[in-house]
Amino acid sequence: MKVLIADQINKKGIDELKDIADVVVQTDITPEELISSIADYDAIVVRSRTKVTRDVIKASKKLKIIARAGVGVDNVDVDAATEKGIMVVNAPQSTSITVAEHTMGIMLSLVRNISIADKSVKAGKWEKSKFMGSELAGKTLGVIGMGRIGSQVVKRCKAFDMEILVNDPYITEEVASKLGAKIVDRDTLFSDADIITIHVPLTAETKHSIGSKEFALMKDTACIVNCARGGIINEQDLYEALSGNVIGGAGLDVFENEPPKDNPLLTLDNMVATPHIGASTKEAQRDAAIIVAKEIKEVLTGGSARNVLNMPVIDPETMILIKPYFELMTKLGKFLIQAAKGNIKEIDVTYCGKLADFPKLDILTRMILQEILNPILNEPVNLVNAMAVAENRGITVIEGKRCEFEGYDSLIRVEMKSDSNDMVIDGVISKEPKIVLINGYKVDVETEGHLLISTYKDIPGVIGVIGTRLGEHEINIAKMQVGRKEPGGEAVMVLKVDSNVPDSVLDDLKKLEHIYDAVVVNL
Ligand code: NAD
Repeated sequence: MKVLIADQINKKGIDELKDIADVVVQTDITPEELISSIADYDAIVVRSRTKVTRDVIKASKKLKIIARAGVGVDNVDVDAATEKGIMVVNAPQSTSITVAEHTMGIMLSLVRNISIADKSVKAGKWEKSKFMGSELAGKTLGVIGMGRIGSQVVKRCKAFDMEILVNDPYITEEVASKLGAKIVDRDTLFSDADIITIHVPLTAETKHSIGSKEFALMKDTACIVNCARGGIINEQDLYEALSGNVIGGAGLDVFENEPPKDNPLLTLDNMVATPHIGASTKEAQRDAAIIVAKEIKEVLTGGSARNVLNMPVIDPETMILIKPYFELMTKLGKFLIQAAKGNIKEIDVTYCGKLADFPKLDILTRMILQEILNPILNEPVNLVNAMAVAENRGITVIEGKRCEFEGYDSLIRVEMKSDSNDMVIDGVISKEPKIVLINGYKVDVETEGHLLISTYKDIPGVIGVIGTRLGEHEINIAKMQVGRKEPGGEAVMVLKVDSNVPDSVLDDLKKLEHIYDAVVVNL
């Protein structure tokens, strides 16, 4: 294994990797050098200097994981990595405490006038009465977004004896009350809080989500802090609210355009600014290096990473629930790609019974796509790129659930539609993975070995003729299953045979009278 450290990271991260890989530290690598050498590497670690572009990813040959020792991945072409099946990981946990502490610093600076008082003292003044402050204790904090960082801010503000209001549509009352916070609607938060702190991601929903309407709701003494991302607050509206004393103050670590040039906010005394240093501590950098090194170690030794940005992450409890189905999905995928015909147009996967309630079922869908697509494509398909590859090839993937279900505890139905036929199979786990339905015919097929599946007219003698023909080619039948909807109609026969059925024998069988079709599946 070979790992490239392309940007400066903490030594502890490098040491962590040394027991499993040959680690090359080349922190001055140029874009051209990176493209010409990336083919040798299994993993690359970057911070923000090195750009992992589409061209770099294209030039890679065995790269499995791109690790960003930090949070943002603007310097990594995640789409290109996904298409090539390369995992992209980061270290979002590394900065939570660091950013929360910075937020506390900005809050204290605002309520105690620390940054302007500092300027004043250094200018030779002693304006004690001008800088009358207020305490945090007893005040109300409004937290917008209570994820990793927001929760750490809440914990610290509880220690400052503050009341905590939270607005986060994606967390429960229970989670909030565990931290001593109360969930409220946005308007209540803006009107009741003395300090508002923002910890949401920048998304289409949150972009410019705080502007003059929100400032008008706030107390004229209240302050707002943004240590999340520039662009969440409308800066023009903020300038008007601060200069018109609609609100008391603001603290910004982030700006819509960084560095902020000719930004009128920078002329205001009731605005505290820092240059996007919320995550900049030695501890956060050390932790980021260790976290990504551990992720790489896991992935290169066959384990799974926690912070994958281009694949669903499975927590240990979910893993226990869905792992037994991994083999079944693999077998169903292998079965379908060998048994079906034509260009695949659509793959519908329906999770039935108890399984329908399990989380992260898309990992199972990715698993079946991987098995179906791998044999027909040149590019390797894996759990990272399975959905993207299907989409790029115009294959519609539909995932469904059916909770009301009889017959089995849990069942997975996969329907593969192509331009020449549709095929539906049902799979269950009954001690071992089994196929219990093929195109509507009930069967009970073990998913291993060589299977010959024939459709034929359900009349006396046909089964015997197939058996005889196989015998002539010294192919021994180990097990036989037949399924039919009605006597005399079309039926399906699944023979488990001890050796592979060569194409020539299969062609022979297909020519027999009353045989509609025959396929061989090797599982
Ligand atoms: P997180 O994903 O752990 O938490 C985000 C929270 O926001 C989640 O609980 C989510 O439910 C909530 N949320 C999403 N949309 C929302 C909405 N419309 N209204 C209310 N809540 C909403 O993220 P995190 O790691 O805590 O990071 C929070 C922010 O801090 C991000 O914007 C991140 O980019 C930023 N950040 C800044 C720095 C810095 O240097 N200043 C460093 C790291 C992270």
